[in-house]
Amino acid sequence: MKLIVQKYGGTSVKDTERIKAVAERVVSCAAKGNNVIVVVSAMAGETDKFVKFAGEITDNPNEREMDLLLSSGERVTSALMTMAIQELGYESMSFTGRQVGIITDSSHTKAMIDRIEADRIKAAIKENKIPVVAGFQGINELSDVTTLGRGGSDTTAVAIAAALKADLCEIYTDVDGVYTTDPRVVPEARKMDKISYDEMLEMASLGAKVLHGRSVEFAKKFNVPMVVRSSYNDSPGTLVTKEDGDMENIVVTGVAQDKNQARITIMRVPDRPGIAATLFESIAEANVNVDMIVQNISSDDKATDISFTVSTAEGPKALEVAQKVSDKLGAQGVNMNPEVAKVSIVGVGMQSHFGVAATMFETLSKAGVNIMMISTSEIKISCVVDMNQSELAVKELHKVFDLAKQ
Ligand code: ADP
Ligand code: ASP
Ligand code: MG
Repeated sequence: MKLIVQKYGGTSVKDTERIKAVAERVVSCAAKGNNVIVVVSAMAGETDKFVKFAGEITDNPNEREMDLLLSSGERVTSALMTMAIQELGYESMSFTGRQVGIITDSSHTKAMIDRIEADRIKAAIKENKIPVVAGFQGINELSDVTTLGRGGSDTTAVAIAAALKADLCEIYTDVDGVYTTDPRVVPEARKMDKISYDEMLEMASLGAKVLHGRSVEFAKKFNVPMVVRSSYNDSPGTLVTKEDGDMENIVVTGVAQDKNQARITIMRVPDRPGIAATLFESIAEANVNVDMIVQNISSDDKATDISFTVSTAEGPKALEVAQKVSDKLGAQGVNMNPEVAKVSIVGVGMQSHFGVAATMFETLSKAGVNIMMISTSEIKISCVVDMNQSELAVKELHKVFDLAKQ
């Protein structure tokens, strides 16, 4: 008897018809003799609706209240899914993050899971009940509700699979698996049969929203076999797994874009030791994650520009902190460009091939795409570009690295 965690995303449970269809899928897996744990997202659009409501009330919503608000969408689906499974004659029981015992830190709206006290779901399985868990949420040590960051239900599923040593974690979504790039942007994108944890981790953290980055981190760390599949058909999907020999032969595996970026520049900061430390300590204290950083060489040895990127949502907060630091240090001023995107190429094979960066830059230049910032690691190269040119950049890179369907 196998233990399988199945996670269903927002479009897979977008209305009651879909919830009933998913319940059939769950029950058919259980009927084959498997123990199934279901993790659900909110119905498509619900979480966005809550964010919009908050924005209609305040420009600066309190993050603790935001988490309680956002977590409610997943509760609705978990109760409805449980009823749908019960209707098919199976025993089932819903669980909120708190009831599962998902304990997180206190970084509201982007909390990290510390541990899972899974006693109640274990007991439910023993009693032959199918547990249906509300994804995306946990509680902190004070028992306040926290959420795991947008797209975080994937992480709930993999964390539960790791904690219960499940045989498989299936992520059901609205595409057939992981593609070489977002198939909605490049229709020629090719579905991969498998992808390494490391490449998937990069793709996810660079904007391929098909999986939440933290879910892949968990899967890699605890060796959870993970499959991304469609909830609309029976095709086998994409296996996310350990790297194997074949994977090194492919130079670039995929292209990702993240439009959820803002660039902040502090102009003419005095060029002396300790300036970057002061700035980024203040940003970290405000609980904002900084992604890329570029510091220009000063032309006159007196002052320099420092630019960095953050997520769009954290832009205003980061700008406020940067403004204060700029005043304190006597810099010329601060500006924010929220119209930027990050375009990246990913591949483990890059480590052993030359000229990949040159090809990327040349391709962007030929397409008339201006590169504002660059960052690299062993298996990825990212460029910050104008948001309006991001999709063109993705299409051209997908073409030049020959990633389309064979
Ligand atoms: P769910 O609601 O099931 O969690 P998401 O909307 O979070 O689904 O993720 C699925 C979407 O991810 C797809 O519809 C697709 O547009 C997008 N996507 C982006 N990059 C990729 C990629 N490389 N492969 C597959 N899908 C991708
Ligand atoms: N409902 C949440 C979101 O829209 C979490 C998820 O779907 O994974 O971000
Ligand atoms: Mg998702």
